[in-house]
Amino acid sequence: MTFGSAASLSRRALLLLGLAAVAMPGGLPARAEAPLSVVATTGMIADAARRIGGDAVEVRALMGPGVDPHAYRQTRTDIAAMVRADLVLWHGLYLEAQMEEFLRKLGERKPTVAVAEGLPRELLIAHVDYPDKFDPHVWMDPRLWSKVVEKVRDTLATERPERAEAFAANTAVYLAELEALAGYSDTVFGSVPESARVLVTAHDAFSYFGRAHGFEVLGIQGISTQSEAGLQRVAELVDILVDRKIAAVFVESSVSDRSVRALVEGAAARGHDVAIGGELFSDAMGQEGTYEGTYPGMIDHNATTISRALGGDAPERGMAGRLAAGS
Ligand SMILES: [Zn+2]
Repeated sequence: MTFGSAASLSRRALLLLGLAAVAMPGGLPARAEAPLSVVATTGMIADAARRIGGDAVEVRALMGPGVDPHAYRQTRTDIAAMVRADLVLWHGLYLEAQMEEFLRKLGERKPTVAVAEGLPRELLIAHVDYPDKFDPHVWMDPRLWSKVVEKVRDTLATERPERAEAFAANTAVYLAELEALAGYSDTVFGSVPESARVLVTAHDAFSYFGRAHGFEVLGIQGISTQSEAGLQRVAELVDILVDRKIAAVFVESSVSDRSVRALVEGAAARGHDVAIGGELFSDAMGQEGTYEGTYPGMIDHNATTISRALGGDAPERGMAGRLAAGS
């Protein structure tokens, strides 16, 4: 609280200086208010904050492409950025397991909001390993993620109430884009033969995806990448691949592909050819500055890649022709 009022005091001081400059003949032009400086843990949260905040915010994501949030621990640079920021947005639901203690402490000193924590419990999937926890991978269902996007909008509006109207308008545009993506996903997954609606990946990041689109999802590792992939689990999955003639399995950009390759080899040894259906963005988005490096691009890429590899019908370049060729 003291930090908040100190910040608004200095904002007022800046505003007065600005007014003084305008009043002075030949003075400096009035400066617009400095953008709200926001640090977000994951790229998905940062994407929402950027789209909603526009030029009223300056957003930095701590976890870039290929980074595993379950294992990520804050660096010195991250700590400095979070201490300096006006607002810190994190996911919660025990996604940032290694950062949680730091983030909770930081929350005693400055606005620090876990944007997925407030989701209604009845919409969450229970964590298989911890009965008192939930599966954190809610961004895998764009309609569920929309509720988190609204939380980001409300949080930004609390910090910059004078920009609330613009934030609401930007959010409406972004949410319409997410709804279009969800509709595209429904269509392309609907074209996958029912018996082929099985998604085998490196870790259990796709339960919300499976629930939204009627896919059975099987991960080699559990919900967190921190659990060991057992040989027994690999053998079980090889049996399933062979028995059900599953055509493709998928690697993830933020998890080692070693265990997925073990599945392919195991199935081949039993005379069943399984393809690597492509690389999915599970817990991190694609390269910064590309379409795949945005949340809509991430979802478009996954929907397009999965449906094409499992016998469905989807345009090679995705919903709006924006996916990189051969991605
Ligand atoms: Zn994960």
